[in-house]
Amino acid sequence: MEIEPTSGWTLPGRPESALVTRPGPRASETVHALLDRGLRVTVATSSPDARLRDLAGRGLVALTEPGVSDLEDFDVVIRDTAHLRGGDPGAPARGDARPGRRRGEVVLVGGGPGPLGLLTLAGAEALRAADVVVYDRLAPLAALDLAPSGAERIPVGKIPRGEFTPQEQINAILVNRAQQGATVVRLKGGDSFVFGRGGEEWLACTSAGIPVRVVPGVTSAVAVPGLAGLPVTHRAVTPGFVVVSGHVGPDDPRNQVDWAVLAGAGLTIVVLMGVATLPAIAERLVTCGLPGDTPAAVVADGGLPSQRRVIAPLGQVAQAAQQAGLGAPAVAIIGATVAALTPAEPDGLQMSPMPD
Ligand code: SAH
Repeated sequence: MEIEPTSGWTLPGRPESALVTRPGPRASETVHALLDRGLRVTVATSSPDARLRDLAGRGLVALTEPGVSDLEDFDVVIRDTAHLRGGDPGAPARGDARPGRRRGEVVLVGGGPGPLGLLTLAGAEALRAADVVVYDRLAPLAALDLAPSGAERIPVGKIPRGEFTPQEQINAILVNRAQQGATVVRLKGGDSFVFGRGGEEWLACTSAGIPVRVVPGVTSAVAVPGLAGLPVTHRAVTPGFVVVSGHVGPDDPRNQVDWAVLAGAGLTIVVLMGVATLPAIAERLVTCGLPGDTPAAVVADGGLPSQRRVIAPLGQVAQAAQQAGLGAPAVAIIGATVAALTPAEPDGLQMSPMPD
């Protein structure tokens, strides 16, 4: 198996340790790429350059004299001068990371709030290696182009109060495809573990013996306010923020949020999935003691060309957003940080298609 280091190379199987011999001028890039893949790295050199010494000083690599280490002790040995050598000399050349019997896996990729630029590099890399992509409506759909043209693409959209694929069916698709040996990317909006049902999919896969990897995503809870110029924390204004679901309103028994605690916590409150329930949520917070003139905002379609925001006092924000025609997906932000960078207009209400 011969693969050039540092240029999108893949490794055979699931190696845990690597020895880099004859490190060239780009050795530290090779080392970073190996560390990124979770390997323990040893570099054999009698004259480490400054960057290798730095990595060694931070405990990220072990340095050893050439010829001292037993090559058999390592899963992969990389000759940094040109090529990477795996344990299986007969294995196919680059592009196939799974010589021999293929073992499927599921990669939970958080795709960010929508624009391709907010997908992580690790997410893009996972997509490029996918045999199957199972994606949501709010996933960055432009990212589907990153998957190989022959990859199977399965939409499992959940339209609010509309058509959806039951979670059990999504789990079954993931497990089934991975059992057939496929590398399955589960691509969704934001971060998989923020109201993304990533945990359920993780459990379904691991209990079926399927290995699962998580690529965290940029969550809309932070990114969408940020894209609209609204910080969720601001020094000396708020000590923190809390993210809650508005999927069901505060009067619904399924809603477990203690709104009285939130009203008194002094934290920025970020509400996801709360377009329909925002009037009731705002009213409940005011009833629980949060002043009706607390700055608040709704940001819809964050990061997309159609992004819009409405800023208004808590007591009026739901109505203002409704009147402005803001619909899902939208994030509501309640708290003093909303006004930290954006002083309120004299009439207390602002609307703008994009942050100024
Ligand atoms: N896992 C996602 C959240 C899923 S819940 C994450 O971490 O971002 C779906 C909710 O996310 C939507 O109802 C909306 O509140 C929010 N959302 C996602 N993308 C958005 C966007 N581009 N603009 C505004 N809100 C968005």
